[in-house]
Amino acid sequence: MDIKKLVRKNILDLKPYSSARDEFKGQADVFLDANENPFDTSCNRYPDPYQKTVKIALEKIKAVPTQNMLLGNGSDEVLDLIVRAFCEPEKDNIVITPPTYGMYKVIADINNVACKVALLDEDFSLNTDRILSAVDQNSKILFLCSPNNPSGNIFDEERVDFLLKTFKGIVVIDEAYIDFSAAVSWSKKLDQYPNLIVCQTLSKAWGLAGIRLGMCFASDFIISILNKIKAPYNVNILSQQTALKYLSDEKKYQEKLAILSEEKSKLKTALNGLPFIQKVYPSSANFFLIKTMDANQIYKTLTAKGIIIRNRSKQPRCENCLRITVGTPEQNGKLIKALQAIQESVIL
Ligand SMILES: *Cc1c(COP(=O)(O)O)cnc(C)c1O
Repeated sequence: MDIKKLVRKNILDLKPYSSARDEFKGQADVFLDANENPFDTSCNRYPDPYQKTVKIALEKIKAVPTQNMLLGNGSDEVLDLIVRAFCEPEKDNIVITPPTYGMYKVIADINNVACKVALLDEDFSLNTDRILSAVDQNSKILFLCSPNNPSGNIFDEERVDFLLKTFKGIVVIDEAYIDFSAAVSWSKKLDQYPNLIVCQTLSKAWGLAGIRLGMCFASDFIISILNKIKAPYNVNILSQQTALKYLSDEKKYQEKLAILSEEKSKLKTALNGLPFIQKVYPSSANFFLIKTMDANQIYKTLTAKGIIIRNRSKQPRCENCLRITVGTPEQNGKLIKALQAIQESVIL
């Protein structure tokens, strides 16, 4: 597959903006090249446009070479860059597999790119036939979210492999929740699939949603294309510093993950014990999708008690489904208590 042919022509031909920090990269004492204010505020200088230090820290953790990485202002920025690089507005399309993360379609809509839909099966597994029938010659990107939001399941490795080999476009695997799962990241297999892009984030397992730092792993070529179109200073200094601080303490990160894992199994047991919850779907993430007798009623009752969960019942295949994030022991305790009170009331 010639990935170059998938890139929009104007992007392939684009001469990117060359920032002051692009043009001079060496050591010096006097920087009068970027019209910055010289007085120190700790933020008076522009950040490193390619976030080299953060990437080196990530390389150690992710075992992905820095040249196969792009960092963004959240993975939402990364997803948008991917659509803009490959999809010609009003001509090309993306393919999504609902129920899934809502941003893929929103990003396509913003870019005036059509969005084809191939539903997951009833058990939220990938249906490769359905996906390939949804594809046409203008389908440039297939978005797969694994573990999937909102269902929580990991997609079957062989089916993903089949799609990577069969689909004649870019396959984006969104691994926002991979750190909660025992599965191996697809980023380990970038060499095998020139059309693979893997997205991850510091927003979930790393507990850094507020700094907006998303990761993109792909071939050198794809990374070079995305680097051309990203805003020059897309990850600010404060975010880079905070990321470095937390990435340097993997032990604390592991400790928190272990607590969440334990809380997750306790929550699962408690949810399974409630008669108005018909199913707790298997989850490889930090949330559960549950099927209930009356999602709207449960959602309303919890909201009235100040407990907010996500009502997913309008999503395809998610009738009467709610999505619940695993919280602290205290928060989960409050949730379970509130759910048990519903059980005792006459509403359901
Ligand atoms: C939370 C989430 C993200 C994270 O997006 P950020 O912009 O990095 O915070 C990405 N994809 C999915 C499926 C998510 O659920």
